[in-house]
Amino acid sequence: MAAKTQVLLIEDDKSIASFITTSLSGNGYRVIHALDGKEGLSLAASNCPDIILLDLGLPDIDGCEILKELRTWCSVPVIVISARTREQDKVNALDLGADDYIAKPFGTAELMARIRTSLRHSYTASPEKVYRAQGLEIHFEKRLILLNGEEIHLTQIEYQLLTLLAENSGRVLTYHYIMNAIWGPYMDSNNQILRVNMANIRRKIEVNPAQPRYVFTEVGIGYRMLENESI
Ligand code: CA
Repeated sequence: MAAKTQVLLIEDDKSIASFITTSLSGNGYRVIHALDGKEGLSLAASNCPDIILLDLGLPDIDGCEILKELRTWCSVPVIVISARTREQDKVNALDLGADDYIAKPFGTAELMARIRTSLRHSYTASPEKVYRAQGLEIHFEKRLILLNGEEIHLTQIEYQLLTLLAENSGRVLTYHYIMNAIWGPYMDSNNQILRVNMANIRRKIEVNPAQPRYVFTEVGIGYRMLENESI
């Protein structure tokens, strides 16, 4: 029998922890639970979990500090689960290396979906060669984009932007992350150039750019591309 996927849950609220543990166990995961940040870091080091669920408001160390510390030695996917719903908190956590962010309260189905997405990304050793979802195909090696079988022509920057999102499909990428990846760290921090390019991409691939099917805006945070169905 395959070993169960091990989830480290760092959460001080006992009722939330119990809800999450029950949901995860019922879905075939093994859960180890830490009640504070110190215990969380120590269990992360000793148990090598497959994924970490991290609360931000912990009694001893702030979750953002834990994330920073974890990212100095560990690349395991981290999903932040937090009652902090300000955009800036989400942006901070994602920029510090969280793979995803779920605002409390959330349902079991959403949590399971986010965990599956994060695990899939961490298990994919080599980057996918094709992105495919709802009629949109990106063949990375051929640099070919098809929409319902018709070739779509993008500029160099638009192509880089779309493939960056496609390679991270299902995850939100922050404006800062995208700006840095495409234009480099010295670019002016205003996102105007990003918005213009995104508008152009949407005009080319979306039936209704105001109600996108492929690239979603996470207001104040960044963009998330529809999950790749070919993985
Ligand atoms: Ca808490």
